Amino acid sequence: MLLLGSHVGFNKNDQLLGSLNEALSYGANTFMFYTGAPQNTRRYPIEDGLTLEAMKIMKEEGIDYSKVVVHAPYIVNLANDGDPEKYQFSVNFLQEEIERCKLLGITKLVLHPGSHVGLGMDRAISNIANAINMISNDSVVILLETMAGKGTEVGSKLEEIKQIIDLVDNKDLIGVCLDTCHLSDAGYDLSDFNKFLDLFDSIIGLNKIGCVHVNDSKNENGAHKDRHENFGYGHVGFDLLVSVIYNERLENIPKILETPYVDREYPPYKYEIEMIKNKKFDENLIDKIRNQK
Ligand code: FE
Ligand code: FE
Ligand code: ZN
Repeated sequence: MLLLGSHVGFNKNDQLLGSLNEALSYGANTFMFYTGAPQNTRRYPIEDGLTLEAMKIMKEEGIDYSKVVVHAPYIVNLANDGDPEKYQFSVNFLQEEIERCKLLGITKLVLHPGSHVGLGMDRAISNIANAINMISNDSVVILLETMAGKGTEVGSKLEEIKQIIDLVDNKDLIGVCLDTCHLSDAGYDLSDFNKFLDLFDSIIGLNKIGCVHVNDSKNENGAHKDRHENFGYGHVGFDLLVSVIYNERLENIPKILETPYVDREYPPYKYEIEMIKNKKFDENLIDKIRNQK
C-alpha cells in the first residue's frame, strides 16, 4: 500500500489531533511530526484525551498508526561528547522523547545521528551508539537518518550508519530513514534507484528501512548542502522521486515530504501529494500553491 504524507505541525492545544487533521487536509494517509518546535527542546505534556480522539479518527479513516513517525529535534547531538554536560543533555532529551512517543503510541522515531564537531568520526560513531544504549526503550524504533554531509555530520555514508547499528545492543529497535535530498547531496547515484537499494542492502540490509523522506534538492549531486527543494523542482527530479515512492521494495514504508513552504508561507503538501498520485509533473504547481485561497 502506498503510504504518503508530509511533516505536519504539533501544537500545545490540539497535539496529535491537530497533526492528524492537518495531514488529512493534505489528502495524506500517513504523517510525521515533531513533538514540539524542531529547533528547540521545549515540550508540553501530552494530553491523552487528544491522543485517543486522534486514534479513533485514524481508525475510521483507515490510517495505519503504526506507520506514523516522530522526528527528534535537530539540536539533539549524540555525536559530540566534548562537553559532557551537553552530551548528557542530549541523551536525557532522547530518553524523554522516547517516553513521549510511548505516550503517543508512536513506534518510529527519526533521529539525525549528529555532528562530530572536530572529534572525528570514530569517536562520534561510538558516542551515538553509547547514547542509544544508555536510554531505556522497549518499543520505539530509532531510525537514523542518512545525512547530506554538511560540516561534520555523521551518517552521510552508509558505512557510518552501519557502524552505529553494529554497536547498538538492541538491533530490533534500530533502523534507518532514507532522505533522497540528503542521499543526493551526499553524492550517492540514485539515477537507478534499484541499484542504490542493492547497495544499501549489501551494506545495511533493506529490512532496516523504516521511513523515507522524499525531498528534492536545491543543489547538485555531491554538494553536501542539505537544502530541500519542492517535489520535482530540484536536482533529484520528478521521475526519480516518483520511482522511489512507487518502488515495490519500499512498499508499506511511509514516504514523507519535507519540501519547503512556498514563499515560506504556503504548505505545498496537498498539491505535491496530488501531483505524485497523478504521476505527472506539473510545471505550474508552485504558482498554484502561491495562488491558493
Ligand atoms: Fe531529518
Ligand atoms: Fe529528512
Ligand atoms: Zn535535510
